[in-house]
Amino acid sequence: GQQLLGTDPEIAALIAEETKRQSNHLELIASENFVSPAVLEAMGSSLTNKYAEGLPGKRYYGGCEVVDKVEQLAIDRAKQLFGADHANVQPHSGATANAAVYLAFLKPGDTVLGLDLSQGGHLTHGSPVNFSGLNYRAVHYGVDDNGLIDYARMREIARKEKPKLIIAGYSAYSRVLDYQQFADAAKEVGAIFMVDMAHFAGLAAAGVYPNPVPFADVVTTTTHKTLRGPRGGLILCKAEHAKAVDKAMFPGTQGGPLEHVIAAKAVAFLEALRPEFKDYCVQVVKNAQAMAAQLVLHGVHVVSGGTDNHLMLCDLRTKGATLTGKLAENALDKAGITVNKNTVPKETQSPFVTSGIRIGTPAVTTRGMREPEMVRIAGLIDRVLSAPEDGAVLEAVKREVHAMTAEFPLYL
Ligand code: PLP
Repeated sequence: GQQLLGTDPEIAALIAEETKRQSNHLELIASENFVSPAVLEAMGSSLTNKYAEGLPGKRYYGGCEVVDKVEQLAIDRAKQLFGADHANVQPHSGATANAAVYLAFLKPGDTVLGLDLSQGGHLTHGSPVNFSGLNYRAVHYGVDDNGLIDYARMREIARKEKPKLIIAGYSAYSRVLDYQQFADAAKEVGAIFMVDMAHFAGLAAAGVYPNPVPFADVVTTTTHKTLRGPRGGLILCKAEHAKAVDKAMFPGTQGGPLEHVIAAKAVAFLEALRPEFKDYCVQVVKNAQAMAAQLVLHGVHVVSGGTDNHLMLCDLRTKGATLTGKLAENALDKAGITVNKNTVPKETQSPFVTSGIRIGTPAVTTRGMREPEMVRIAGLIDRVLSAPEDGAVLEAVKREVHAMTAEFPLYL
């Protein structure tokens, strides 16, 4: 702290300001969390100085004997946590993990089948503005009228389009995935089956959401969402794909791995192997279910009626004709509650406006909040959504948010 303050007071002040913002807001973005001080310490370490292209024991640089041990610990813990044959801990992010998998298994122009972005999928699952949709021929499945994945339709599309890669996984879907349905479709058409568990990796590690590893050829994830590690990615795969995946990661996609981040991943994996992490994940889901139930009581339409994981997608069209996702996000922000606007099934607005918001409980659960706090937060959200342009209401809610965040301090 003191060194940075002396060298660069501007950045030091901004970091302090951001820490304060995280402390006194209610963080409900489903893809965010608060890492432990131990994870932070590993990330801000001397390991950032080291080049280590290659893999432990097979490097292109000298002086790797220490980082080899760091990376091997991360690999071993990732394999143990998910019961995987093989792990590559080098992806800088979830997007590069996915890019490496495409490179490992596809040729440009090959067909990929994933969940539609506007119905809960991710940009890297074949969006036309992303490498996955630009370099490959992307086709999509979606959800039915109840907001649940339409497996019959997914199977039909797979038969017709003959994808080389079928992707399960999501950024905004709140129900359990039936991996067997995807695995069967992939087997039938000779596709590789990939699961992107970025959102629910922590829950899967803790056993409170089904683990995709036994079903899939390859599983990708970020490490910074429910898994509560540093910002980064991870690839797990069956032994037969290990070489292809490692080669696609380096030299295929990235240069030198971020060994300081890999050390922080190792710390997070160790934390996730502990029984307290299971208790945490159980509470994350209980909190999401309590929040969803309460929002429904307040007249919000929760897509699919509820949640099995850490997130819910709220369709705000039942709450008022002029209420959009953009307006809701802005109003909630002014009241100290952080969410993101999100497209919903049968969307009628542009992606910049949207009709919905996505809400998640990983971060507030890390602070120690439980069901009674979820009921309180849902009440605050309802007050904002009912009067999004009433400055007095937003101020009053903000005062209550500050009282709540003071009760559950971050980084003591
Ligand atoms: N995959 C899914 C399902 C995601 O939700 C995300 C993040 O939003 C990513 C991949 C991309 O991860 P990153 O932002 O680390 O590149």
